[in-house]
Amino acid sequence: MNGRKRIGVLALQGAFMEHIASFQKLDAEALAIRLPREFRGLDGLVVPGGESTSISQLMRSYGLIRALRGLARHGFPVFGTCAGMILLAKSASDSTVETIGAMDIEVSRNAFGRQIDSFETFLPVPALGEVPFPGVLIRAPVIVGVGPEVEILAHLPDGTPVAARQGNLLVSAFHPELTLDLRFHAYFLNIVSAYAEERGYRLDNNQPWEASGVPPPENQAICWRGLSNEGTQQ
Ligand code: GLN
Repeated sequence: MNGRKRIGVLALQGAFMEHIASFQKLDAEALAIRLPREFRGLDGLVVPGGESTSISQLMRSYGLIRALRGLARHGFPVFGTCAGMILLAKSASDSTVETIGAMDIEVSRNAFGRQIDSFETFLPVPALGEVPFPGVLIRAPVIVGVGPEVEILAHLPDGTPVAARQGNLLVSAFHPELTLDLRFHAYFLNIVSAYAEERGYRLDNNQPWEASGVPPPENQAICWRGLSNEGTQQ
């Protein structure tokens, strides 16, 4: 099978539209997904940020927790951001959130305090190149424990891990989809392509750049408050 990469974005609650827009900018097809039967034909899936308690309850009602657990166990590429990272974790500090448990990490919810303690910071992410990545942390979780298979991709200056990969699972405590920097999404599309190739089919490499070499935006302003105002710092 050939074709454009088809990425499902779980659209129960939270920042799913922004992920769809980021993948579309990279020429991938991105679809809002709400039911397990809609997983068919996808090459990868995103569990977005939002409120992990609400998302997990809705996932349970729609049979999505079991479905996703099964997919992830078979190596299907999944990218979880913020609440999505909590949902992919093996365990979360808050037992009211039922997690999918696919990734061997332990996370702590709301690790920086209340909404008002949200912040932005540039993070070195060696896997994405030399230019630091704009980290938008909105009532963010952090990773407090990792298993041996987990590779840490980014941490805060104090050493706290905030992005990681285990096989085809990718997580970040921050929100790449709320920035103009597409490198995290391109990195995930690379995982998706490799997975497809392993399974014997090729996806078009119809991106204008080598995915690993997607350039950071020229103006590195973190502009999540001013997305409509591309490139200007708000
Ligand atoms: N605080 C949220 C939670 O624990 C996550 C916030 C986010 O996704 N930006 O679910």
